[in-house]
Amino acid sequence: MTSSTTPPASVPEKIRHYINGEFVDSIDGEEFDVLNPVTNEPYIKAASGRKADIEAAVASAKAAFDEGPWPTMLPRERARILNRIADIVESRKDELAAMESFDSGLPITQAKGQAARAAENFRFFADLIVAQVDDAFKVPGRQANYVNRKPIGVAGLITPWNTPFMLESWKLGPAIATGNTVVLKPAEFTPLSASLWPGIFEEAGLPQGVFNMVNGFGEEGFAGDSLVKHPDVPLISFTGESKTGQTIFANAAPWLKGLSMELGGKSPAVVFADADLDAAVNATIFGVFSLNGERCTAGSRILVEESIYDEFVERYAAQAKRVKVGLPSEESTEVAALVHPEHYEKVMSYVEIGKTEARLVAGGGRPEGFETGNFIEPTVFADVKPDARIFQEEIFGPVVAITPFSSDEEALELANDTKYGLAAYIWTSDLKRAHNFSQAVESGMVWLNSNNVRDLRTPFGGVKASGLGHEGGYRSIDFYTEQQSVHINLGEVHNPVFGKQ
Ligand code: NAD
Repeated sequence: MTSSTTPPASVPEKIRHYINGEFVDSIDGEEFDVLNPVTNEPYIKAASGRKADIEAAVASAKAAFDEGPWPTMLPRERARILNRIADIVESRKDELAAMESFDSGLPITQAKGQAARAAENFRFFADLIVAQVDDAFKVPGRQANYVNRKPIGVAGLITPWNTPFMLESWKLGPAIATGNTVVLKPAEFTPLSASLWPGIFEEAGLPQGVFNMVNGFGEEGFAGDSLVKHPDVPLISFTGESKTGQTIFANAAPWLKGLSMELGGKSPAVVFADADLDAAVNATIFGVFSLNGERCTAGSRILVEESIYDEFVERYAAQAKRVKVGLPSEESTEVAALVHPEHYEKVMSYVEIGKTEARLVAGGGRPEGFETGNFIEPTVFADVKPDARIFQEEIFGPVVAITPFSSDEEALELANDTKYGLAAYIWTSDLKRAHNFSQAVESGMVWLNSNNVRDLRTPFGGVKASGLGHEGGYRSIDFYTEQQSVHINLGEVHNPVFGKQ
């Protein structure tokens, strides 16, 4: 037995909801099995929430918002609690990463990196609200105006299963930093690490009712859907598939809710012949195989200039074959197990489709020695045509499509030729080309000669089917606050008088 088959010691007996400061079961007692991705055996039960559970959680969050003290506390006081949260997350980083890796199949070293990032998210938003400056505008002698930022109310946070804890922190940090109260609906495939939030928040001194969590499914009648349709939840921050985003958009429409949507991607990595080839190969390997390829910003389409195409494909395939597939718990593992058998089947079906559409140059099957669980070899297809499904559709696994191009114009056309627009990566030593390409590429984010590293101050979001709105830095503060303009008469404002006589 290894630690990838035995749950970490701190795994609770059962995963419950957390409402108004208490762990509770579903009102109807419903539960579901959570699977270990290495064996696909159920290892724990989780409460499956529905409308009644969401109603209880929203009532708790609304009372905490209406009755305070959280929304009216000084930013400095809230920041102190956020910093404590960051300290606790940091101090429990190893335990947290072990749970995350066990539950999601992420390699342990990468799960540790995600845990550190989660702590950083709280610290960052603590700093930001203390340093927050509100706009003020003056018309000399006539009028002064200032912007009154206010928390909005109960924020509904709906998250996916890839890097679950980090993505939850990415929403929880700014939502509570700005004085809102929240109901979190974690992804049903990976509810384990979220079960740590209540203890962390209680220890940090977050007032009761500010954080609530309902586990379970997203579809109609279940927890996610009920949260979106609850009239007392004016804000929904969602990360997940583009198709789910469309459903949520429609379901939130009757209330005109505030929506932030971080959705799917099929991001291009464009490698020109003048690029530093070593750096480009290393970065594009990491870009699609890290996090098991379950990364929204994965550079899953690599476009390579014709003159270096054969050399690139050869080097890329050779390096992909050396990527270490292993158990999630092993420090040397680079790619581990996909999250769930349903997702595994989906990724494998794309591998089979790819074999009929393009040239397989690495991987394409189950790795030797891993007869059970959701393991897949890092898989590389070359000569992929733009109308191929593996070029157009998000696979969300360790599978990459490589396509040649012969001019800058063709590279741009190919880069923009999908419905998505999340990220783009450009590799060239020609700065002018790099900047011009960034201007023209249809993506929310561009990395030039760079791996996917992100400064927390920068806006994060996608265009086209990859998202709606931005979070990150001040954009998160904007999303989670109302901006009320206050106009002050300084004595000489033009005031037309109607009906004087
Ligand atoms: P998903 O859309 O299936 O589920 C995401 C969450 O939405 C889950 O908690 C689910 O229960 C819930 N949900 C499902 N249907 C719902 C409904 N009708 N109403 C309310 N909630 C509902 O996505 P997933 O499979 O968990 O995650 C993978 C996807 O997430 C990929 O497409 C990936 O690109 C995307 N993603 C995007 C980003 C980003 O920042 N752009 C980051 C991470 C993941």
